[in-house]
Amino acid sequence: MDSVGPNKLPNNVPGRYYTTEECDGCAYCASVAPDNFGYEKDSNTYYVSRQPKSPEEEECVREAMDDCPLDAICGDKKTAVREPAPRRTNAA
Ligand code: SF4
Repeated sequence: MDSVGPNKLPNNVPGRYYTTEECDGCAYCASVAPDNFGYEKDSNTYYVSRQPKSPEEEECVREAMDDCPLDAICGDKKTAVREPAPRRTNAA
């Protein structure tokens, strides 16, 4: 069963980030992550055109998601691409 909500925009590429019908085309996401968001003129909406492929892109997409004024960007934070965490050493 697909866990994606019914209002996911159809142009999003497959992957963990996507935009929804709440998008009003403000273009903020594309200004923050221009390599990852595309514009759909007919509906005046933005969609995820490329899933992030690097920690840098991930950071930009996450920033867009966190600051989208309409919360129209969704993503699975648990599977985000991240820099490897520094190894913890047991000092004891
Ligand atoms: S920031 Fe949000 S509302 Fe604005 S274009 Fe992007 S997805 Fe749409």
